[in-house]
Amino acid sequence: MTTIATMLGADAKVAAEDFNDLIEFEIKLANLTTPADQRRDNNALYNKMTIAQLQYNVTGFDWLDFFSKLGASWSEDLQESEEIVVNEPRYIREITEVVQNTPHRTIANYIVWIITMKRISQLGSNFRDVEQKYDEVVYGTASESARWQTCVGHVNNVMDFAVGRMFVDVHYDEKSKIRTNKMIDFILEAFLELVDESEWMDAPTKVVAKEKAEIMNRQIGYPDWIKENEELTDYFKNYDFDSGKYFENYLQYVKENTQRGFEYLRKPVDKFKWLTGPAIVNAYYDPTKNSITLPAGILQPPYYHKDSPQYLNFGGIGMMIGHEITHGFDDRGRQYDKDGNLEQWWTDESIDAYVGRTLCIVDQYDKYYMEECNMTLNGVQTQGENIADNGGLKEAYRGYRKMVEETMDDEELRLPGIGLTQDQMLFVNFAQIWCSKYTEQGARNRILTGVHSPGPYRVEGSISNLPEFAKVFNCPASRPMNPDKKCTVW
Ligand SMILES: [Zn+2]
Repeated sequence: MTTIATMLGADAKVAAEDFNDLIEFEIKLANLTTPADQRRDNNALYNKMTIAQLQYNVTGFDWLDFFSKLGASWSEDLQESEEIVVNEPRYIREITEVVQNTPHRTIANYIVWIITMKRISQLGSNFRDVEQKYDEVVYGTASESARWQTCVGHVNNVMDFAVGRMFVDVHYDEKSKIRTNKMIDFILEAFLELVDESEWMDAPTKVVAKEKAEIMNRQIGYPDWIKENEELTDYFKNYDFDSGKYFENYLQYVKENTQRGFEYLRKPVDKFKWLTGPAIVNAYYDPTKNSITLPAGILQPPYYHKDSPQYLNFGGIGMMIGHEITHGFDDRGRQYDKDGNLEQWWTDESIDAYVGRTLCIVDQYDKYYMEECNMTLNGVQTQGENIADNGGLKEAYRGYRKMVEETMDDEELRLPGIGLTQDQMLFVNFAQIWCSKYTEQGARNRILTGVHSPGPYRVEGSISNLPEFAKVFNCPASRPMNPDKKCTVW
């Protein structure tokens, strides 16, 4: 912080002193923050009130005045009767007190520092070198990414749907959509079976669970509107980029993106809106829309290829599909109903039984020890992802078997020279996808802040709970990959 401030013209000694105050302030904020593993109850985070009520509950700060100055098209007409959602009233109350008791100089430095810090990666190499030294200490990254990777990443981030359009025009096979949809059908069928078979969920809840799964919206490849040149141009119409002004272009983007976010407040909810561009290697479930999204970027090897044997595709994208479907029924997704409303649709008995099941998963992952950083995983914080991994792998395997039985005369061909069966290869491809390596700092950071378990435990955790895996690989009983105690939610 001091180095950057000095480079921007500050006096080194004054900056060092100021930043000491700033860090003390940040530590106070951090201590007021509820840890991530205690922020998984979305009902507790949904506190609807009017601005007047907020003003009554949290005094000493003019909230209406603050919201009116955000610069959104609606902000000047804002009334005290406006309803807002306050995630954590306690935090807002306490932070207001802290802010009141902090010198203005520290607050001003804090605001300017946050803005500066977030823009360092758009500055010249002298600034980025400082950032790189910091990253080395905190994340263990030995060098900055290749310049082209950074630049492509930034452009894909800022021009998400334009880059996505270019990507799908060249690299996306329209047949992928049809084939992926068929895979989803089989995997969904497997999930519905798991609901039926579950011993802990009562009959009334099962009916609603299956309904929620059946009407889950599927977004595959890209949103259709990006193929319309006019709509795409319109989407970026507020930008006036200049190829010689990278930093300024980025500021334009930040401003426009913030405005766009503000404007959603006065628009009806678009259930089919994509949260990311199509050219990314990721997939997601959105509980507020009950939809799964598989962008074109992930429909590539090792997840998927149109000419790959289906056992590889099911171990890859198939497992991801199952994972995303299961998110609708993990510890957080289950809090939303089929229409994406935060509403309890389970009976109390089913919730109790469910919590018992998830505790087994929490305990299991709590025990995984990472030598790299001498720490164990946080089973509570990662439970949603772990539940999704476990369910997803099981659904993918079952879905694959269903597909073979229902659509093929015989098993698919094996891969030559490998000596593994089709079923074994499904699990091998699954494991290979999460192959990863961590530095000490990277591992620590992942455990402290991540909602996903580190790669090796995503694999070990899921397969060791799955009797089908032990069967396919003939694992002897009571061995690490076939333990006597197995956890099952779905
Ligand atoms: Zn996930």
